[in-house]
Amino acid sequence: MTDGIASDRSETVFKDFKSGFSREQALVEANRCFFCSDAPCIKACPTQIDIPQFIRKITTGNVKGSARTIFESNILGMSCARVCPVEVLCVSTCVYNGLDQPPIQIGKLQRYSTDFAIAEGWRFFAAGPDSGKSVGLIGAGPASLACAHELRRHGHRVTIYEKRTSIGGLNTTGVAPYKMKADCSVEEVAWILGIGGIEVKTGVTIGVDIAVKDLEQLHNAVFFGAGLGADTKLRVPGEHLAGVHGAVEWIESMKLARVATAGVQHCVVVGGGNTAIDAVREARGLGIPRVTMLYRGSEVKMSGYAHEWRSALPEGGCAEWQAIVTRFEGSQSVERLHCQRLDAQKQPISGSDFVLDAQLVLLAIGQSKLGTLLAGLEGIEIEGGRIVTDAHGSTGRKGWFAGGDCRNGGKEVVNAAAEGKSAALAIHAYFSGGKHA
Ligand SMILES: Cc1cc2nc3c(=O)[nH]c(=O)nc-3n(C[C@H](O)[C@H](O)[C@H](O)COP(=O)(O)OP(=O)(O)OC[C@H]3O[C@@H](n4cnc5c(N)ncnc54)[C@H](O)[C@@H]3O)c2cc1C
Ligand code: SF4
Repeated sequence: MTDGIASDRSETVFKDFKSGFSREQALVEANRCFFCSDAPCIKACPTQIDIPQFIRKITTGNVKGSARTIFESNILGMSCARVCPVEVLCVSTCVYNGLDQPPIQIGKLQRYSTDFAIAEGWRFFAAGPDSGKSVGLIGAGPASLACAHELRRHGHRVTIYEKRTSIGGLNTTGVAPYKMKADCSVEEVAWILGIGGIEVKTGVTIGVDIAVKDLEQLHNAVFFGAGLGADTKLRVPGEHLAGVHGAVEWIESMKLARVATAGVQHCVVVGGGNTAIDAVREARGLGIPRVTMLYRGSEVKMSGYAHEWRSALPEGGCAEWQAIVTRFEGSQSVERLHCQRLDAQKQPISGSDFVLDAQLVLLAIGQSKLGTLLAGLEGIEIEGGRIVTDAHGSTGRKGWFAGGDCRNGGKEVVNAAAEGKSAALAIHAYFSGGKHA
């Protein structure tokens, strides 16, 4: 076991859903790119990576330069190459789509260059001369890591406080293992920390071990990158039974340790978002014979990505649409779910009750917001649990900044990376007494 990650953890049975490119494959694909001026793919990337530029460098054999172009915009370029929903971001805007030709596989080309760079141990950035200023960051997820790295480039001292023993946030504990496994995320974190001078204090919960307000005495500025909180409860009878879990909590157990699936004949995943789809595919991948997603909306209105759901179907995922759980039943652990159908207005249809047998239930109906942690601080505005900031991550309290899921309500790794970097530049401007560009 290293960094809270067991070597015999359940996620190791998964293979990469999209394998990496060989050199020849990368060259063929890179040479298809038109290197568009005013490229739409750049605008679709939240971190604004110069995509045609990094692809052009692959065509000339300059993999190091290609990786530098990516990391200059997004220091989490290696994980983003694996986990980004490129189908709805850069790839969806590629001009090839309008020509009835397959779009450029931007994610796989990005993976080619960044994997190479990290495997070779290439370093592109050095810490700046010591500014004498110190920043405390809450959480060691993508937002804080991107922020910390950029702050070090400007010479600021950085301490990250992380409540878990593992680092990397949901990149380590949440992302589906057929996209990226925990050890790959931890390897990326180690490479990012390689810039030097980023102190990471694991096992420290801000608000418990250190009072939130005390951070102001310890540091000249604070970045809040704590992500989202615990899985939302359904609040129906029987939810306390063994075998009923929050999906994010169960996924974390599966990624870091071993989860028991022996004897589970049927797993029901409640919800219709991307976490629900991941949980369906993961439960099937772990060998559970029947896995059903139970969602109160219809297939066309599900909040999860359609391309992800399409991938779940051939793997054996199935669904009960427009249905809700009214109670769980079992003696010690869950044995069955009592359910009801809803009409198009999401109203229960009388006489539509049905029962599903299940030995495992995963609740993927959302996560709590952690904004409440800052609730007592004057000047900090919280809206629906999210921290309110300006476009660059400054809150209404002097010296306090925020980014990632706790600010945007829960988006993607690439958004957290973009917001973390932007906040670092705002913090640098704050120290310099200037305004963010
Ligand atoms: C199941 C799941 C699958 C996902 N899959 C994808 C995907 O395939 N692609 C994609 O792009 N995005 C995916 N996402 C979303 C993505 O993981 C997040 O948007 C991203 O990780 C947000 O980064 P963050 O740094 O804001 O928060 P997090 O990654 O959540 O990191 C926050 C960190 O703060 C720590 N923390 C919290 N409170 C405290 C405290 N009080 N004191 C100290 N530390 C604290 C937490 O332990 C955590 O390590 C997924 C999310 C989930 C839940
Ligand atoms: S839009 Fe497509 S073809 Fe144009 S630069 Fe981007 S990846 Fe290349």
